[in-house]
Amino acid sequence: MLAATGLTKSYAGADGELPVLTGIDLEVRAGEIVALLGKSGSGKSTLLRCLAGLVPPSSGTVAYRGEPLTGANPGTAMVFQTFALLPWLTVQQNVELGLEARGVPAARRAEAALRAIDLIGLDGFESAYPKELSGGMRQRVGFARALVVEPDVLMMDEPFSALDVLTAENLRGELMELWESGQFPTRAVVLVTHNIEEAVLMTDRIVVLGSRPGTIRETFDVPLDHPRDRNSPAFD
Ligand code: ADP
Ligand code: MG
Repeated sequence: MLAATGLTKSYAGADGELPVLTGIDLEVRAGEIVALLGKSGSGKSTLLRCLAGLVPPSSGTVAYRGEPLTGANPGTAMVFQTFALLPWLTVQQNVELGLEARGVPAARRAEAALRAIDLIGLDGFESAYPKELSGGMRQRVGFARALVVEPDVLMMDEPFSALDVLTAENLRGELMELWESGQFPTRAVVLVTHNIEEAVLMTDRIVVLGSRPGTIRETFDVPLDHPRDRNSPAFD
C-alpha cells in the first residue's frame, strides 16, 4: 500500500543540514498495523509526515499503491498528538473538514460526519466546540475526522500520549473494537508511539527507529498472541 525507498530527510539548522532520517526502506502492506517506535527526536513524526506526503523527502521516494507521491498522500488520513482541531468550528464542522479536503460534496458530508461522530461515541456533541470537551473527547473528534474519509492507511502520531492513562486505555480498547467491527474500512494502520506496551498490544509489526542518525534499527513481528482478530472484516 505504502512504500518508502531510500528515504532521507534533513532539516536546515544553524550548523548546516541536520539529518533526521537516513536511508529508510519501509513497506506497509494491506492488512497490517505497524508501529513506529523510538525515543523522542528519533524521527518518528518526520517519517510519518513523509509517508503522508505532508513533508517532502530530501531524497528517496514514497509511493502509494506503486505511484510516487507528488503531494499529500490521497490514501492516508492523520490523527495528531495534540488533536489539531480548529477551535472556532463545532465538532461536526471539524469532522466534515476531512471530507471537504477530499472534495466530498456538501450534501454528503453531514450524513457521513454524523455517522462517524456516533460511532466514535460523541453522539449529542455535534454542535459543541472543542474547548467544551475533555482531552479524550477532543481526540475522539480527531479520530472521527480521520476515519470519516475511510483512508486506506490510518496514520496516528502518538494519539494517546496527551491523554491520561485511563482515558487512553479506554480509547485504545474502543478503537480496536471499532476496527474489528469493520464499520470503518481502513486497510492498514501506522501508529507512532514511544510506548512499547502500546505497540505490542495494538500492532502486528514494530519498526524501531534508532536515534542519531535516524535509521531503522530493528523490525520485528509482535510475537505474542494478539488480542486483535487478524481476520477481521476491517482488514479484508
Ligand atoms: P519524533 O517524532 O521521533 O520525536 P521528529 O520527527 O519530531 O521526532 O524530530 C526528529 C528531529 O528532527 C528532531 O531533532 C527535531 O528537532 C527535528 N525536526 C523535526 N521537525 C523539524 C523542522 N520542521 N525543522 C527543523 N528540525 C525539525
Ligand atoms: Mg513526534
